[in-house]
Parts: sequence; structure tokens; C-alpha cells
Amino acid sequence: MSKGFFNVPDPVNEPVKSYAPGTPEREAVTKQYASYYNGSVDVPLYIGKEEVRTGNTRNMTLPHDHKQVVGTYHLAEKKHIDNAIAAALEARVQWSQMPWEQRAAIFLRAADLIAGPYRAKINASTMIAQSKNVFQAEIDAACELIDFLRFNVKFMSDIYKDQPASSNGVWNRVEYRPLEGFIYAITPFNFTAIAANLPASAALMGNTVVWKPSDHQIFSAKVIVDIFKEAGVPDGVINVVYGDPVMITDTVLASPDFAGIHFTGSTYVFKEIWKKIGENIHNYKTYPKIVGETGGKDFIIAHPTSNTKQVATAISRGAFEYQGQKCSAASRVYLPKSTATEIINYVKEDVASFKMGSPADLSNFITAVIHEGSFDKLVSYIDQARKDDDAEIVAGGNYDKSKGYFIEPTVIVTTNPNYSTMGTELFGPVVTIYVYEDKDWSETLKLVDSTSEYALTGAVFSECRYALEEANKALQNSAGNFYINDKPSGAVVGQQPFGGARASGTNDKAGSAQNLLRWVSPRLIKETFVTPIDYRYPFLGE
Ligand code: NAD
Repeated sequence: MSKGFFNVPDPVNEPVKSYAPGTPEREAVTKQYASYYNGSVDVPLYIGKEEVRTGNTRNMTLPHDHKQVVGTYHLAEKKHIDNAIAAALEARVQWSQMPWEQRAAIFLRAADLIAGPYRAKINASTMIAQSKNVFQAEIDAACELIDFLRFNVKFMSDIYKDQPASSNGVWNRVEYRPLEGFIYAITPFNFTAIAANLPASAALMGNTVVWKPSDHQIFSAKVIVDIFKEAGVPDGVINVVYGDPVMITDTVLASPDFAGIHFTGSTYVFKEIWKKIGENIHNYKTYPKIVGETGGKDFIIAHPTSNTKQVATAISRGAFEYQGQKCSAASRVYLPKSTATEIINYVKEDVASFKMGSPADLSNFITAVIHEGSFDKLVSYIDQARKDDDAEIVAGGNYDKSKGYFIEPTVIVTTNPNYSTMGTELFGPVVTIYVYEDKDWSETLKLVDSTSEYALTGAVFSECRYALEEANKALQNSAGNFYINDKPSGAVVGQQPFGGARASGTNDKAGSAQNLLRWVSPRLIKETFVTPIDYRYPFLGE
């Protein structure tokens, strides 16, 4: 029972370290990377207080060095998923009754562990597992995750403070109860911060969780588990399973106690899960909360008045950082004919200057894509663009998977605004540019709005306020995160709550109170101090 109205520490965004030559953080991460690279980790399932080793293992390899094995992980069978659900339900009894300040303290402690003793580990493991360069690892695995944890504690206390009015003789109170059942978190490979936040945000609000990380992020997921354990997350609050995603999901969704899903990943997978939830709806004790942030086909549109160097830099960073494997990565660009050549030439200069290779060499800006499936898919689109009359590759276009899954940052220019790569999410370092006639600006805005099923992020560049306002209106439903004179990626927790609509997700804005509200079921308590003892109202009088 709380005996005070506690204020939580005011969150401030974690400063991004530079990793410049000679800095202590560079030395620490380099050492840690080498130790992981030459070591071997055996990652069990985490079910209740047990570390379960099924003996049915898969190797963990590096996308940029796929013959190097850095460890193994154990695959779950159906019975392990049932056990994980049971462990979550058992832990719920105590965890859901834990005073909120204790939950807050655990996750604030996790944030401080990441900011300090685990920083090199979480970053190096992300470089190893997901092939992020050190800067991309730092802004994701360290800073964004720290921000999620600290800001969510603040948002939680803001939610708890939000109380209804009371009238004379009556006290109204709202209790933000955790959901009745357990939460299923399914996470993607591309952000260590998302992987940790999806189970953690639900757990922070008093829920217990079955978490299924991506097969391609397990190496850094293990570090997250270590951090949560050291921070004091009790056994059974976050249970971790890997293996056949369909079997795991079918087992979870068949449970009558399934109370909500916190998903980030591709649109098709989320729609399939939604369908299965619908098929099971009569079995559930409660209507499950469905939260999913999914794919994107994020745009940049430049007006003829835009600054050409700014637009080019937004394309180079927005499309190619982390090999374009951000849901927010710019992947379709609309340039006016009057300045298109100049902008494309700047982008070509940038691309020619990118260094590509292992993240172990800190001077590399570009590393590998996540796995062979992704590599092969990207190659098929690049090869097709080479053949198509309405597309031309103006930069990059080479690839090599002999050592790692390396795809050169590639720029396609198309004369067809509905060319396949203008609408399909490729999730790699490929950007497609369509050049429009300057006079067709307003028509082009309609094209931007209607070309893809997604509506995640988008950016407009212009020096003309009228043009910006026109784009602002025309693209109101085209992106959940809309950027003016900036690249469409790089959202910061607490500043730009993130999420999109249409086929891009339920838009429950990770890194905001809106998201946390999905993990509670408010109970209104009305207490009357002097309770009536006569049913007759005054109007009934003679
Ligand atoms: P993915 O959909 O392949 O995998 C996501 C998770 O779903 C993984 O844990 C995977 O194992 C699991 N999964 C795969 N198939 C499944 C199935 N049939 N049933 C149940 N679970 C299944 O996505 P990914 O390649 O890991 O991540 C990239 C995708 O995530 C892109 O589409 C990207 O746009 C999206 N993403 C979106 C956001 C956002 O905030 N909108 C953020 C990051 C990534």
C-alpha cells in the first residue's frame, strides 16, 4: 500500500555518446564486441524461475559475417508455451498487487543499468545480432531504450493522477487495473529498444507477459533479460520463448486468459494474428487489447522551393541509415523536375562516399541486411529494376552475400509513379525517386496520399509556407508521424510519439501515455458518504 503521493524523477532524453576515436565509450564497446564475437552464449527459454534448455537449438550468426557462430538458443515446444502462460498467470497474483512505485523503481533501475554498466553490452550485442553500426546501436539499444523506461514511468504516474471530479458527499476514484489475464509481446528484429519496451511497458502497468522476440534479435534479447533480472523484475513477470512463431502464437491465442497483444512487425503477420484473435473471440474471458505497429512506405516530397542540399541529406540519411531497415526509412521520394538532377547528384555523391562493411570497423556507415531472405528479396527487386524500361538504377545496385548480406545503397529513378518499389515495403537500402513536373505539385500530393497502403511517416520540404500548409492538409491521413523540413525517421521518445495508421498499425504511439493506457482497464469507484435511506425524490412530493 502506498503511503504518499510520490513524484517520479523528471525524465530527460539520454545524451547520445559520440564514440569518436579516443573516447572511453569507443574503447568499451570495441572490447565488448570482440569478447562476444569470440565467445559463445547459450540462450535458454525463461519460464517462471526456470531457465529451460530444450536441447533443440539453433545457431546465432552475424548478418555481416554469417559463418561466425556466437552462440545458440533453444527452441520451445508447445508445452513450454503452456508453461510460460501458466508462469505469467501465477506471477500475476503478486505482481498486479505490487505498489506502483515499486514497479517504477525496477524499471528506473533498469534504465540506469543500461546507461551505465550495461551500455557497452547492449550496444555490442546489437552490433553483433542486428548489424547496427555503433551510432545506430547507441541511439536505439542504449538511448531509446533508456528513454522508453524513464518516460514510461513518468507517463504511468501521470495516468494514475488523472482522476474524475467528485461532488458534495461523493468521492469518485479511478483505479488503473492491469488487464485480467496475460499479455503477449511479439517483437521485430530491427530495434532492441522496441524488443525491450513491448514487454516492459505492459509489465510496468502491472501485467505479466509472454514475450517472443524475433529469431534475429535473440543475442541482444538475452542482454535485455539480464538487465531486467538485475533490475529486479520478478520471475514469471516477463517469460521469454523462441521457436516456430505460428505454433507459439496459436498456443498463446488459444488461451482463455489471453488479454492483449503488443506487436511490432510486418503488416501481413499482424493481420493474420488479428484474424486468429477474431476466430478465438468466444473463448476469451475478456476482450483482448490489440496493439500493433507495422510496415511503412515512407515518403519525402520536395517542393520546387525546397533547399536541394537539405533534401539530399534527408534522403541519404533517411533512406540508408541502418541499411533502410527502419519502419520509418524514406523509401519513396517525389522531386520537382526543376531541381531533381541537382538533388540526385548530391545523393549520388553521398552514396559514393559511404563505407560499407562490418560494424566492428567503426568507420563503416553501412553494414549488412538482417538475413538471407531479406538479401534475396532485395536482390530480386534490384535485378527487376535493371530490366524494366520505366526504372533506372542511378546509384548502387551491387550486392554480395559471400561473407555477409551486403547490399549497396541503391537509388532507383522511375518514370512510373506506381512502379512496384514506390508502393511495396522492401525494408532495405533501396530508395525510389519519381520526378514530377513543377506545375503538378498539387496533383503529386494526391499521388503521395494514394500510392501505398501504409501511413507511417512522411516528410515535406519547402521554403514556401503556402506549399507547406497545402501539403500539411493534403497529407493529413498519409502519415502518423509527419515531418516538415526534416527526414522522416529518428523519432525521440517523449518528443515525437511514434506510430502510423492505415496498414501501418493501430497508432497507439509507443513512448506515450496513449500506449500505456492500452495495458490497463480502469475501475471507477464511487463512494457515497451519507447514503440515502428513502427512495422518494422531492418531485414525488404532494
Ligand atoms: P516480422 O513480421 O517478420 O516479424 C516480427 C515478429 O513476428 C517476429 O518476432 C517474428 O518471429 C514474428 N512472426 C513472424 N511470422 C509470424 C507468424 N506467422 N505468426 C506470428 N508471429 C510471427 O518483422 P521483422 O522483419 O522482424 O521486422 C520488420 C517489420 O517490422 C517491417 O515491416 C517494419 O516496418 C516493421 N516495424 C514497424 C515498426 C513501427 O513502429 N511501425 C517498428 C519496427 C518495425
